[in-house]
Amino acid sequence: MSLIVQKFGGTSVADVEKIRAAARKAIRAQRQGNRVVMVVSAMGKNTDRLLELAAEVGPNPPAREMDMLLSTGEQVSVALVAMAIHELGSEAVSLTGGQIGMQTDSSFSKARIRSINTERINRLLDDGKIVVAAGFQGIDNDLNITTLGRGGSDTTAVALAAVLKADSCEIYTDVDGVYTTDPRLLPEARRVDVISYDEMLELASLGASVMHNRSIEFAKKFGVPIHVRSSFSDTEGTMIVTEQESSSAPVSGAAMTPDEARVTVLGVPDVPGKSLQIFSAIAEKKIAVDMVVQNVGDGGKADVSFTVQRKELATTLATLAPVVDAIGAEALTHDDQVSKVSVVGANMVQQAAVASRMFRALAQADVNIHMITTSEIKISALVPRDQAIDALRAVHTAFSLHEKPSDAKSWSEIKADRAAGVEVETLVSRLRDDALEALTLTGISVVEDQARVTLFGVPDRPGIAADMFEKIGAAGISVDMIVQGYNGEEGSTSVSFTVDEDALEPSLKVAKQIAAAHAMRGVQGGGNIAKVTVSGIGLRSHTHVATLLFETLAADEINVQMIGTSELQVTAVIDSEAAVRAKIGLERVFAESLAK
Ligand code: ASP
Ligand code: MG
Repeated sequence: MSLIVQKFGGTSVADVEKIRAAARKAIRAQRQGNRVVMVVSAMGKNTDRLLELAAEVGPNPPAREMDMLLSTGEQVSVALVAMAIHELGSEAVSLTGGQIGMQTDSSFSKARIRSINTERINRLLDDGKIVVAAGFQGIDNDLNITTLGRGGSDTTAVALAAVLKADSCEIYTDVDGVYTTDPRLLPEARRVDVISYDEMLELASLGASVMHNRSIEFAKKFGVPIHVRSSFSDTEGTMIVTEQESSSAPVSGAAMTPDEARVTVLGVPDVPGKSLQIFSAIAEKKIAVDMVVQNVGDGGKADVSFTVQRKELATTLATLAPVVDAIGAEALTHDDQVSKVSVVGANMVQQAAVASRMFRALAQADVNIHMITTSEIKISALVPRDQAIDALRAVHTAFSLHEKPSDAKSWSEIKADRAAGVEVETLVSRLRDDALEALTLTGISVVEDQARVTLFGVPDRPGIAADMFEKIGAAGISVDMIVQGYNGEEGSTSVSFTVDEDALEPSLKVAKQIAAAHAMRGVQGGGNIAKVTVSGIGLRSHTHVATLLFETLAADEINVQMIGTSELQVTAVIDSEAAVRAKIGLERVFAESLAK
């Protein structure tokens, strides 16, 4: 008999009528012959209301009491849902997090799941009951109530689906699926039928708030297919699955995060450990750093730029002021009028022209790019905030995201492939089941024989990046990482990219032509560099990975030339001679987390 987990978010149980509708969906699934587990969030905005109530009592509520309070929201809704099911003539039992044996660590308000005891749930399902489990909550070793963080019911649902080996996990919500971009920003956004975990992880971290990020990490680890769909209709929504190649389109989605700020530390001495001091000072303040670009200047000094959320700018600047002096850097600058536009696509790994297509679209919209970072499945550009929507639209159009790719596969076609023996990779067999949400690394790799090319004095105006990468593409050179930073020079910037060492000579040749055409200051390039990459699941929600990587390299006196981060990987470009040392050091530091 198949087992379905159905999760209903706050808006899907906001009032009694909606609670009845949710109950009916579960009953229908049961009558169709499924075992049904529901996971339910607090009604409507109840969690917010509880937070306000706590704030009225005092400004510093103890974290433990906060979780005690917030968990009551879900307790109300599971009881009401179970009652509604009874009223409609079926049998249901509501259970709290503790009662389903949802064991977590003790980090109140952001607890991570350690294990789930499925015994009781299975017994109730055997008895023909619908199990209605409270989302978002668990208990620690001491039986304290914990919560998983805002939006955590998704994670409860996917975790239950994983440990119960459910056939599907349906997420009922107030939108009918995942869109190519936020439809509130661009009405032409299109609902996608199928998207991969990796793409969804990137989009979620870019603010596509459809699902809790940690729930997708969970789904990926255990290979749980997720169906995001509307609770107000029966139309099919979006399937989030392992398969990366559900179409050949290079880009599956675009996103814009409006409220970013750029911070640059100018003239950082280019020796090991200096940028680490910058980032560890910020990490201590629990500020998330996003696009990171380190540009080696021509004078042996580096300019380190990164973005933070605009609301964190003041704290970031205050934190860095003393660090700038301590490390002997020259100055600290910032820009708080910037937004980030990104494209995400699992297929872009194989397609060289994605970056230049994006840059051309921005150029045609007359948008100047302030910074660029790339990862294996994402390209981000920092743009002026007053042009952010235009920039998003230009990119969405350039990749024809409003149109369904002609070779897009549906979920039923993918299921047919699977039935025909197409392997689906999961990590489940390799995981410790007493630490379900622990950081899981899939590998530490070194790619040698890389080269870097840097163009200095690149005019900071629309169209330059597009021209550069079109010319490089036209020369048949395939570029890997691209970064454009900020160097404090009025009207100019520098751009670096990496290529295979074989392509260094032709790349330098094209770069020199480009430099001449746009009156740039110069070109520098060199081989003998390597990329070290730590890959895994949840590299952002486990924020210490990047810090540990840089600490390990700094401790070994290894200088980092370029940095790339994403949900899936953290990459550092270093000297070839240090590659082996770096790998050994990292394998030692991350031994615990490496999936075997
Ligand atoms: N009720 C919790 C919240 O509002 C958990 C959830 O809805 O997923 O964040
Ligand atoms: Mg919610």
